[in-house]
Amino acid sequence: MDRWKTIVEPFRIHSVEPVRMTTVEERVAALEAAGYNLFNLHADDVLIDLLTDSGTGAMSRDQWAAIQHGDESYAGSPSWFAFLESVQALFPFRHVIPTHQGRAAEKILFSVIGGPGKSIPNNTHFDTTRANVEFSGAEAVDLVIPEGRDPAAIHPFKGNMDVEALDAFLRERAGSVPVVFVTITNNSGGGQPVSLENLRAVRAVCDGHGIPLFLDGCRFAENAWFIKLREPGQGDRSIPDIVREIASLADGMTMSAKKDGLANIGGWLAMNDDALAERCRNLLILTEGFVTYGGLAGRDLEAIAQGLREVVDEDYLRYRIRSTAYLGDALDAAGVPLVKPFGGHAIYLDARALLPHIPPLEYPGQALAVALYREGGIRGCEIGTVMFGQHPDGTESAAAMDLVRLAIPRRTYTQSHIDYVVEVVSYVASRASDLRGMRIVQAPPALRHFTATFEPLG
Ligand SMILES: *Cc1c(COP(=O)(O)O)cnc(C)c1O
Repeated sequence: MDRWKTIVEPFRIHSVEPVRMTTVEERVAALEAAGYNLFNLHADDVLIDLLTDSGTGAMSRDQWAAIQHGDESYAGSPSWFAFLESVQALFPFRHVIPTHQGRAAEKILFSVIGGPGKSIPNNTHFDTTRANVEFSGAEAVDLVIPEGRDPAAIHPFKGNMDVEALDAFLRERAGSVPVVFVTITNNSGGGQPVSLENLRAVRAVCDGHGIPLFLDGCRFAENAWFIKLREPGQGDRSIPDIVREIASLADGMTMSAKKDGLANIGGWLAMNDDALAERCRNLLILTEGFVTYGGLAGRDLEAIAQGLREVVDEDYLRYRIRSTAYLGDALDAAGVPLVKPFGGHAIYLDARALLPHIPPLEYPGQALAVALYREGGIRGCEIGTVMFGQHPDGTESAAAMDLVRLAIPRRTYTQSHIDYVVEVVSYVASRASDLRGMRIVQAPPALRHFTATFEPLG
């Protein structure tokens, strides 16, 4: 396949969804009405929606067919057994607990094992993971390798855990650490993979301190593909085989099926520990539903069962990772500053580097995201000072970086959609000096990026 440059999407289109063309004037009006917050837009006014890759992918013919097999029996539905078999074919943990999405699995787990005085290390906690750890009263500690914190550093496995830092941390605090987490791929670090070698080393450190290791497995298939491509000695292995080795190194996992489940909703919590599973199931019944459906309808369980078979397909993964890199390579060639190397699910524009005349407290990421929507109807997501600059005491400071994330929904857009994105982003970047910063008109006390309203400056 590598003989040809063009990426052939490994599917034909069978059912289409219209996207609506809008004019610049209409988008200017939509921005004003939305208070310049892209979360407030009506999605019909967005042409290419790169806000997130979570739950936004296209399901296959076989997933829609599986939905027709959905059995809505309250207990013991055949759809539950199809789901269980599919999950355990990749992650053979003794206990699998279905949930309505990833954060529900996190909430249940950390309600049981978190709490004041506890610490949970991770390469980098995803925001819902951190929020659920902290809500329980525990501390969330990020121990990614130093390269993982530097947007310009090139490393094949930039999501790796800093094993020495983990060992030092556990030497001091082992008594208060109920679990060590590794997030694959490391979403908050830019979708960067973790190597098998690193997972084995983390496992050894955990064993040395008698602490269980859990995976945040949301993008396990993308991570396995990077292992096959980049890790010495792994090139000839099948993806399910690599995934099963990853699972064999862990004692449990949390999962959002909205990512590598190729579904629009769903998730699970899995583990080998019988006593822990019983405590989690008791909470599940209280907050999600009975143990054979969690928060899901039987048809959702069927869609996930089929999605898990499709996501480990090599033609799919080759297309997935190459098409993300295709966007990155084209923007790089156009001179747009980016976070590198490119991760699996998104390309991150470095707004601070592109807009040096806009100080962080005038939100260069927000200014860039707004300009991409105004010029081309493209919706990205500011990941910078709007999202991370607000502190609980009411003060504000610059975030570590000001980025705009262009997340790629799975199997949803074609290469020509992406060519259009390249054209619009390149156009906006070529006129970067014309962009002005933004001012916040009003904001809630926390998580302001979802609901704050803005005004353009000057
Ligand atoms: C999306 C995500 C979650 C949370 O999952 P939801 O289904 O959105 O609740 C947790 N961890 C990572 C790494 C994620 O990407």
